[in-house]
Amino acid sequence: VLCEVTVTRLAGPGLQGAAISIEDRSRDEETEQMRRDFVANVSHELRTPLTALMGFIETLRGPARNDPDARDRFLNIMEREAGRMNRLVADLLSLSRVEQDERRRPVQNVELAGLLRSEVATLTPAAAAAGVRLELKGAGNKVMVPGDGDQLVQVFRNLIENAVKYGGSGGVVTVTLAHLDHEPVLRGPAWSVSVADKGEGIESQHLPRLTERFYRVDTHRSREKGGTGLGLAIVKHIVSRHRGRLRIESEIGQGSRFTVLLPETVGRV
Ligand code: ADP
Repeated sequence: VLCEVTVTRLAGPGLQGAAISIEDRSRDEETEQMRRDFVANVSHELRTPLTALMGFIETLRGPARNDPDARDRFLNIMEREAGRMNRLVADLLSLSRVEQDERRRPVQNVELAGLLRSEVATLTPAAAAAGVRLELKGAGNKVMVPGDGDQLVQVFRNLIENAVKYGGSGGVVTVTLAHLDHEPVLRGPAWSVSVADKGEGIESQHLPRLTERFYRVDTHRSREKGGTGLGLAIVKHIVSRHRGRLRIESEIGQGSRFTVLLPETVGRV
C-alpha cells in the first residue's frame, strides 16, 4: 500500500497543533505503472518492424543494389513488416476508441443472428484457405439485442480469426448462438455467442491474462500469424461496454471456447 501523508501545521489565535491527512495512492501508482508498461510495450512492438525495415533499406542501397531476386525478396519482407505496423496502429486506435466509449452504453439495437451469418460468410474463404471449416449454429431466427453493430462485428471477427489462427489444427470452428433464460453472472436473460475450436488448447495459467494488452501465449507464433496482441483486449472492452461478459474455457488437446454473454435488455443505467 502506498500512502501519501500530509502534515499541515495549524497556527492561529487559540489554535495550535497539526492536521494529518492520509491518502491511499496505491491505485494511482498502479495506474501509472500500467501506463508506463503500455508505452514501453507499444514502443517495443513498433520498433521491431521498424528496425527490420531500416535494415532492409540499408541492404537495398548497398549489397542488394544490383540483385533483382534479392530486391524482390526484401521488398516482400518490407511490405509484411509495414503491414504489421499498420495493423498495430489500427488496433491501438481501436483500443483507444473503445476505452473512451466504455462508459457510454450502446443505444441502438442490433440483429445478432444476421450479423453472425454475414460475419461467418465474410470469414469463410480465408478460413477455408487455412484448411478450416466455419460452422454456424442457432442463428436461424432474428435476435435483437441492444448494441453497437460495428463493435460487435469486431468482437466476433477477432474471436473467429483467433480460433482459425491458433485453433485451426482441429479443422473446424463452430460459432453458436443460444438464448439463456437466466444467466447467473448477468442476473437475467441473455444471449450467448460461443466460438469454439478443436485446436491444441491453452494452458490454464494463461487464461486469466489473455485479455491483457500484448499478452500472448507464444509471442513468436502470434507475430508470425500477424497478431498484434491487442485483439482480446479490444474484445474485453467492447463486451464490458455492452454490460456483458467474456468467458474463456480451454482444455489441452481438446480446444478452446470463447463465449460472449450479452444481456437481453439494456437494464438499469
Ligand atoms: P494476437 O494478436 O496475438 O492474436 P489476441 O489478444 O487476439 O492477440 O490473443 C492473445 C493470445 O491468446 C494469442 O497470442 C494466443 O496466444 C492466445 N489465443 C487467442 N485465441 C486463441 C485460441 N482460439 N486458441 C489458442 N490460443 C488462443
